[in-house]
Amino acid sequence: MKRAFISDIHSNLESLEAVLADIRGQGITDVYCLGDIVGYGPNPRECIDIIMNCKVCLLGNHDQGALFDPEGFNSGAERAIFWTRSQLESTGGGLDGHRRWDFLGELPRNHQEGELLFVHGSARNPLNEYVFPEDIYNQRKMEKIFALSQKHAFQGHTHVPGVFTEDLRFSAPDELGYEYRLTDRKTMINVGSVGQPRDGDPRACYVVFEDDIVRFRRVEYPVERTIEKIYDVPDLDNFLGDRLRDGR
Ligand code: ZN
Repeated sequence: MKRAFISDIHSNLESLEAVLADIRGQGITDVYCLGDIVGYGPNPRECIDIIMNCKVCLLGNHDQGALFDPEGFNSGAERAIFWTRSQLESTGGGLDGHRRWDFLGELPRNHQEGELLFVHGSARNPLNEYVFPEDIYNQRKMEKIFALSQKHAFQGHTHVPGVFTEDLRFSAPDELGYEYRLTDRKTMINVGSVGQPRDGDPRACYVVFEDDIVRFRRVEYPVERTIEKIYDVPDLDNFLGDRLRDGR
């Protein structure tokens, strides 16, 4: 069974639509979203409405920030979260507004299917912990997180896609030929970000999973259109648009 794992959409409608078209083009209907539907980008409502149709969806730290008081965000991210909240509230008490709040408010923090764990951040702290490529040099941290995962964990949050193995190696998608076959060794797979890639490749990123094979997909989208929309919203820093062009 072929499935698609997406994460970190961050209210980027253009990248989400491009990724979903790529997913549909492969005949895939089961889409799992690993969180951060909103924050940073200009189309929170539209993105939530689309993600509601995913088979599995997890809560991300920016989704939680929009629901409750944002904590621990830098000022640009925090302003984006307050603007996002105003967008969700501007639909007032209408049915759509309530549906979106209820949907976000009921999102789980993790999802387990057999040997596969799905989280936004990490097995240790599903909502907030970052596992960056350079963490392979932090043996204690990695061992603790691996110990909490039964076998394979799919995650997002850093916007940096790739595969971590239990022997403390990290491989970026291009080093793997965009494909990795899971083995008996424990693995963490970062599926990358749909709406704000930060690995130097501005194309949207996600993962297709079938028969133990993880395939990283990169999808071009009309990034300048998203950037223009961000420029048009005073509460969204222009930087949030500029970084989409660089994928940083
Ligand atoms: Zn994110």
